[in-house]
Amino acid sequence: MDSLIRFVREQYRTNEFIPLHAPQFFGREREMVLDTIESTFVSSVGSYVDRFEREIAELTGCERAVAVVNGTAGIHVALKLAGVAAGDLVVTQALTFVATCNAINYCNAEPLFIDVDRHTLGLSPKSLEAWLSEHALLDDNGECRTKSEHRRVSACLPMHTFGHPVELDQLISVCNRWNLALIEDAAESLGSYYKGIHTGTFGKIGVLSLNGNKIITTGGGGMLLTNDELGQRAKHLTTTAKLPHPYEFVHDEVGYNYRMPNLNAALGCAQLAQLPIFLKSKRLLANRYIEFFADSDFRPVVEPEHCQSNYWLNAVICPDRSSRDELLKATNDAGVMTRPLWALMSSLQPYKEALKGSLDNSKWLEDRVVNLPSSVLPSGE
Ligand SMILES: *Cc1c(COP(=O)(O)O)cnc(C)c1O
Repeated sequence: MDSLIRFVREQYRTNEFIPLHAPQFFGREREMVLDTIESTFVSSVGSYVDRFEREIAELTGCERAVAVVNGTAGIHVALKLAGVAAGDLVVTQALTFVATCNAINYCNAEPLFIDVDRHTLGLSPKSLEAWLSEHALLDDNGECRTKSEHRRVSACLPMHTFGHPVELDQLISVCNRWNLALIEDAAESLGSYYKGIHTGTFGKIGVLSLNGNKIITTGGGGMLLTNDELGQRAKHLTTTAKLPHPYEFVHDEVGYNYRMPNLNAALGCAQLAQLPIFLKSKRLLANRYIEFFADSDFRPVVEPEHCQSNYWLNAVICPDRSSRDELLKATNDAGVMTRPLWALMSSLQPYKEALKGSLDNSKWLEDRVVNLPSSVLPSGE
């Protein structure tokens, strides 16, 4: 463990505390944020929101990007736009951050937990197919329903864990076979590609997070990735569903105030310009971790075949639970921040009654995975 601590300290060239992930502002961040203040357009009107949406759409190759206040709100609206209704089941991973499940709950729907694959850490198409074949059927309207209670399963919400894409081709064919709307929780995967196509653009809607701990940040923020038609609906629903009019206030449905303020979008534009440098630095660091662990029992998590991961957070799979605990204690005691995986959603108070398949891989990973310091290297090396 001492050699790992030494190795991490060499990367960041410091004897101070090393966080898991800290944002970096060595581009035009100050200038662009100041510009919103000097113009007074800090809030719901201003040019940075449009510009940021255009630039994200261009980068990811989607038709339309819609900026929102945070990733959680983005997933909430995405599920609504995909037709998730009260009482529905939404397929997702137990191995995820709680926001994924909370967004399902905000629709008065419930999660259905399916296992992950060990090589992607994300939703397993095989486990999903197996569960549906045993427990579900397609009704006369072609809707997927559970055999036992006849509950509708309307959508599938995989998450690209730490920026490693799930097996999208296989997952898409399972979703097509069972008539499930695919919504991607791409909160962690800006800059990650599956077979050369950006994550978050495969499903009906994909959602990025731009929170302070993600690869780029707007302070707090999120982005919906979709096509033109749903994009327009998304814009309407996230901006209080107001009909355009020079001065009258007419709202044609219950909308949300989920719009990203211009102040945050300005920070986002400056950060997005830095993304290529960040991606390069993270890949360099990932390769160094891979080399460091090469002759050990610890296996770094590497990008899946046919994928280009953003290596947002580096992770290592320890041989067992006790070596995981040892690693966590030694590094954190030494001021080098490391973290275990999230507790599985199926074990949390609000979701412990939810339906689930076998979660063997999720539990196996929960016992072994540790996240390692992954901030961009000093001066963007
Ligand atoms: C960060 C994150 C979100 C969204 O988080 P916000 O803080 O609301 O932007 C959703 N899902 C996952 C997996 C995340 O890591």
